Amino acid sequence: MSFKPANNIQDLQYFGEFGGVNPSISDSSTYTFLSAKTMFDTFEGNADGCYLYSRHSSPSNLYLGEALAAMENTETANVTASGMGAITSVVMQLCNSGDHIVSSRTIYGGTYAFLKNFIPKFNIKTSFVDITKLEEVESAITENTKIIYCESVSNPLLEIADIQGIASICKKYNLKLIIDNTFSPLSISPAVLGADVVIHSLTKFINGSSDTVGGVVCGTQEFINDLRNVNDGAGMLLGSTMDSLRASSVLKNLRTLHIRIQQHSKNAMYLAQKFEADGLKTVYPGLKSHPSHQLFKKMMNAEYGYGGMLTVDVGSLEKANRLMELMQHRNLGYLAVSLGFYKTLFSAPGTSTSSEIPETDQLKMGLSDGLIRFSIGLDADVERSYQLMRNCMVELNILDKERKLKVI
Ligand SMILES: *Cc1c(COP(=O)(O)O)cnc(C)c1O
Repeated sequence: MSFKPANNIQDLQYFGEFGGVNPSISDSSTYTFLSAKTMFDTFEGNADGCYLYSRHSSPSNLYLGEALAAMENTETANVTASGMGAITSVVMQLCNSGDHIVSSRTIYGGTYAFLKNFIPKFNIKTSFVDITKLEEVESAITENTKIIYCESVSNPLLEIADIQGIASICKKYNLKLIIDNTFSPLSISPAVLGADVVIHSLTKFINGSSDTVGGVVCGTQEFINDLRNVNDGAGMLLGSTMDSLRASSVLKNLRTLHIRIQQHSKNAMYLAQKFEADGLKTVYPGLKSHPSHQLFKKMMNAEYGYGGMLTVDVGSLEKANRLMELMQHRNLGYLAVSLGFYKTLFSAPGTSTSSEIPETDQLKMGLSDGLIRFSIGLDADVERSYQLMRNCMVELNILDKERKLKVI
């Protein structure tokens, strides 16, 4: 029987303090104690259910964390002010000076910049590997390696990590497997497949309305307690705490995630098939031509599809830019970074979200400058959107109208 992440979210039941169908928002940064002794115990971490100060935890953040933990099938979770706040605190919690990280080379640009440029000053080094080649992953491990880091569906190339395969390498060498699941919430459940820690940028599909940044770390109670420890917890001490008002609004959006993901996936599958049939170089995990299509199929919770992200290579940056400007002009989406919005978003990752990656490295990983990354929206009439997008491509000589052949 397959895992049912959306059921797990829906089965949680909590009421507001006056019986409201949504939990009350905890609009306080600090909390009173009836006795001084309880305050002392709370500082020591021995007073379960007591709140101390909202950078440590707050009721609203705990509600959202519990819902995300239910979705990812982990014991608990800690929500953060951003996805980067989740990623950086996890890495700094798990790694000490002298430690080594094995990371996929195709990861979010900010994560890449953090691992490549920022943490070396703490003497933590990273080897970047092709995550789809398990031999390469294994041979990069040294005696100092602490974690393997990757994205289940990578940004922006949509490479798929064999989570079970990587998890068994982690077991063999006693490493922690950290998976960023931002591109594939509900579709893939990394913890069920063997990941130790699952991270999301809530900014994207999970919140889904492009009105906030947010993040989450899902893991064991022990690890989340470590992150929140008042003496040496990276979550607590680096201060990337989510605000309670925001936690309550993200929780309300999370409840419709399953419907949105189904529509994102349905629209993306339709467009990917059409673009590919038109002769465009299209990458989408739902296409049989995707090198890891079978792997994704094996790992996925089938009812949520292959997700809302696809890429198309139109040959040159100039064509990519003209196409994106024209599509925006025709109201087919926005020329914007980020993902998971109701409207289609497109950007050329080589010059935007992955610009932290040097050009030579971009070429090595197959990130060409004519690549457009699409986050497909919730369009009610995707057939019409396709026709209008296709008109733009014909006008710009990316597609040949008569023969449906790619001109590039
Ligand atoms: C956006 C993103 C992040 C960073 O999240 P923020 O909320 O912007 O800090 C990390 N990983 C992936 C895959 C992302 O798309």
